[in-house]
Amino acid sequence: MPATILDGAKLAAQIRSEIATEVRSLSASGIRPGLAVILAGHNPASEIYVRGKVKASEEVGLFSEKHTPPDAATTEDLLALVDGLNRRDEIDGILVQLPLPAHVDAKKVLLAVDPAKDVDGFHPMNVGLLSTQRPGLVPCTPAGCMEILKRSGIAIAGQNAVVIGRSDIVGKPVAMLLLNANATVTVCHSKTKDLPAVCRRADILVAAIGRAGMVTRDFVKPGATVIDVGINTVTDPAEFRRFFAGNAKREETFHSKGSTLVGDVHPEVAEVAGAITPVPGGVGPLTIAMLMANTVKAARMRRASGVPEAVRA
Ligand code: NAP
Repeated sequence: MPATILDGAKLAAQIRSEIATEVRSLSASGIRPGLAVILAGHNPASEIYVRGKVKASEEVGLFSEKHTPPDAATTEDLLALVDGLNRRDEIDGILVQLPLPAHVDAKKVLLAVDPAKDVDGFHPMNVGLLSTQRPGLVPCTPAGCMEILKRSGIAIAGQNAVVIGRSDIVGKPVAMLLLNANATVTVCHSKTKDLPAVCRRADILVAAIGRAGMVTRDFVKPGATVIDVGINTVTDPAEFRRFFAGNAKREETFHSKGSTLVGDVHPEVAEVAGAITPVPGGVGPLTIAMLMANTVKAARMRRASGVPEAVRA
C-alpha cells in the first residue's frame, strides 16, 4: 500500500492560522510580537528566503522589519546592529540570515544575539536549554519535524527513531527533540557502518543529509514513518530520470524550468513507508511557520508579565 503523504503545506497553514489568532489576542493586550531580520550583503537566494519570512510575518500579524547592511559591513557594524535590536523592547525575535559576507565573523555575530530573542534557536544557551528539557527557543526545522509527527498522530514515545545527519541546525536538535519525546534515538553520519541496516530498525526515520535521493527502499522498514528534510536541486536529465521517470507532473516542471527539487529520500520509498513527507511541500513549509511560532513564544517568555493570564499558553 502506498504511504500516507504528510502534507506539510496544509499543516503549516493550520499553524499559521493558530498563530494569527494568538497574535491578535496578544496585540489586544498591548503586546504585538516583533521580528527583526538582518540580511547583510547581496545574496539572491537569501533575499528570496527573507522575502518569504517577512511576508509570512505580515500575514500572521507580527510586526516585522528588515535590516539590509551593505556587502562591506564589518563584524563590528553587525554587532552594533544586533546590540541595538537586543535593547529594543518591541523586538522579540532577531534572525540573522546566513550566510553572512565572507569577511564577517558569523559565529561572533550569532553569539551576540540575546538568547531570549534567538528565534533560530542556535545560541548555545538555547541548545543547553533543549538538552536539559527547559523552556527555550528550538531551531525551526527540527521543531517543524516534530509538529508533523504530532499533528499527524504518529506515536513517538517508545519508538525507534533514526536520524541521518548530525548538524547543529537539523540533525542534533531533531535527535534531542525525539529523545525528549521518549523515542529511542540513533544518530547516524558519514562514518556510520552499514547505514541501511541501522536505518531499517527505525519506526521513524529522519533524513537530513543533503544528498539527493540517498535513502532508497532498502533503508526503510515497511510501514515506517519517513521525514525527509533534504532539499536538493536536480538539473541533470539522467539524475532526473533516476528519481522521476514516468512522473508526468514532474516531467512537465523539469522540462519547463530545467530543474526540480528532490529530498534526501528517493521517491521509491513511498512504496514501502507507512507515511512520508513530500519534497517540496513537506518539512519546508513548517520551517517558516515555526519561525513565526518562535517569535510569539519569545514575546510570551520575555514579556509574559504584561500578558493577562487568559492569553498565556
Ligand atoms: P549538513 O550540515 O551538511 O549536514 C549533513 C549531515 O549528513 C552531516 O552530519 C553528515 O555527516 C551527514 N552525511 C553526509 N553524507 C552522508 C552519508 N553518505 N552517509 C551518512 N551521513 C552523511 O546539512 P544540514 O544543514 O543538516 O542540512 C541537511 C539537508 O537538509 C540539506 O539538504 C538542507 O538543504 C536541508 N535543509 C532543509 C531545511 C528545510 O527547511 N526543509 C532546513 C535546513 C536544511 P558528517 O557529520 O559525518 O559529515
